[in-house]
Amino acid sequence: MNATAWSILVGESGDAEEDCRAGPGPEGYTLDYSPFSFESDCRHPAPPPTWSDAGVKPGAYTHPAGVHVAPLPHGFHLVQSPHAPVGPAVLAPSVFGRWAGFRAPAPLRDAADRRLVQLTLLRPLDAAPRLCAAAPGALTVWLHITNACDLDCVYCYVRRSSARMSKATGLRAVEAVFANAAQHGFREVKLKYAGGEASLHFALVRRLHARAAELARQHDVRLREVLLTNAVHLRPTDVDWLAREGVRVMISLDGVGERHNASRPLRNREGADTFAAVAHTVDHVLLPRGIRPDVNMVVTARTAPGAADVARWAIIERELPTSFTFYRPNLLSRGRTDLELEEAALLSGMQSAYRVLERALPTWSFTGGLLDRVSAEARTHACGVGQNYLVITHTGALAQCQMHLDRPVRADLQGDLLAAVAAGPLINLPVEQKTGCRDCALRYRCAGGCPLETFRATGRWDVQSPHCALYRALLPAVLRLEGLRLMKAHGCLQ
Ligand code: SF4
Ligand code: SF4
Repeated sequence: MNATAWSILVGESGDAEEDCRAGPGPEGYTLDYSPFSFESDCRHPAPPPTWSDAGVKPGAYTHPAGVHVAPLPHGFHLVQSPHAPVGPAVLAPSVFGRWAGFRAPAPLRDAADRRLVQLTLLRPLDAAPRLCAAAPGALTVWLHITNACDLDCVYCYVRRSSARMSKATGLRAVEAVFANAAQHGFREVKLKYAGGEASLHFALVRRLHARAAELARQHDVRLREVLLTNAVHLRPTDVDWLAREGVRVMISLDGVGERHNASRPLRNREGADTFAAVAHTVDHVLLPRGIRPDVNMVVTARTAPGAADVARWAIIERELPTSFTFYRPNLLSRGRTDLELEEAALLSGMQSAYRVLERALPTWSFTGGLLDRVSAEARTHACGVGQNYLVITHTGALAQCQMHLDRPVRADLQGDLLAAVAAGPLINLPVEQKTGCRDCALRYRCAGGCPLETFRATGRWDVQSPHCALYRALLPAVLRLEGLRLMKAHGCLQ
């Protein structure tokens, strides 16, 4: 074990990646930002906020309130500041001792202490950090290509039909997106081709991509795209195209074998092995063409016991960026009591997944999607609803969230779409305005959870998530995995 080559590891993605390429500093520490990028229904890229007092001032410094500290092997410690812009820090024994000394406020002595300040592990005694909003990141858009799907998933929130987006509507949508991106100064547009099963209308996806690429060039805006798919019937020629055009792929996987089949059956064909079809697509169609799909598991009381299998299959055996999101009751699945989240089932399912991961610990950055919408990067809002997120239905109407497809805020795409979603009925409050969250040490990782789900469970927007207890119980285990991963990646753990 080499604990002297570095003293501090900082995990998870962030804009400070550049800063970290510097390697071991003169004070004997290495910073390691390992970007984790994954896709899920609600995922939207957002640069982490910065803090007003990241610079160093004269006077005494001490620990931030609500810092999470946990022991790791060989005397190392994991330290997560509530204000850290990205993931936790892992402190080698000597640095942990140095940091612990600031429990009693003291002036900074040298560059190593100043680096602890920059990492938000120390704060000035007489000032609380103040959040500074980041510049607008990406404008993320759900393009609802069709209501049609060849599967009949038990928790689906889409009212299925053969209805699909026409070419004229799709082109109008893409043009409106870029016009709004330009109007609001976004430097990046991210399109999600979604449904239903968007790949059933692949010709439209190709056409929209071509127009989007054209507009991105004209506006000098970065374009990112992802196809959300059940991965049951992806054609090799379409995947060749995805690989060529750099369109990412997100697939759904709710278990391995029968558990997936039960949750995601073929429409009108009971007993079909949809898991085998997905596994074939991943192993024989996507991976050979260089596409590493993002995997998303919807965790219900029924699928939770299979979370460990998904962790093994996707993360350990195939190194696929994987996220586990908790089922949200919706109007179409509400009658399915067997889907309801039972906290105990969920807790034990996720804990077994974490145990499996710890036993065969990967060293690549895999931990960012292990706990619903909780993220490694600091953020004030759980998602982009009302800010930088648009949902465009197959008829060309505008909605705030994909779970509000049948409650659009506008019937057309005229004018300022961001103003329209900001004024809609779904209210996405910053975490500081949620009762119970504003003093929580996890607030900038969790941001209070999905606002729509909270409203459906409580009738209020300004309270904590119905999953609060689960987040509090599971996040320390996710942070520990990240700490162990960093140690292993740097040769401090076998
Ligand atoms: S929902 Fe719970 S865990 Fe999340 S920020 Fe609020 S109080 Fe903290
Ligand atoms: S409101 Fe909830 S479901 Fe809708 S985008 Fe936000 S986190 Fe996702």
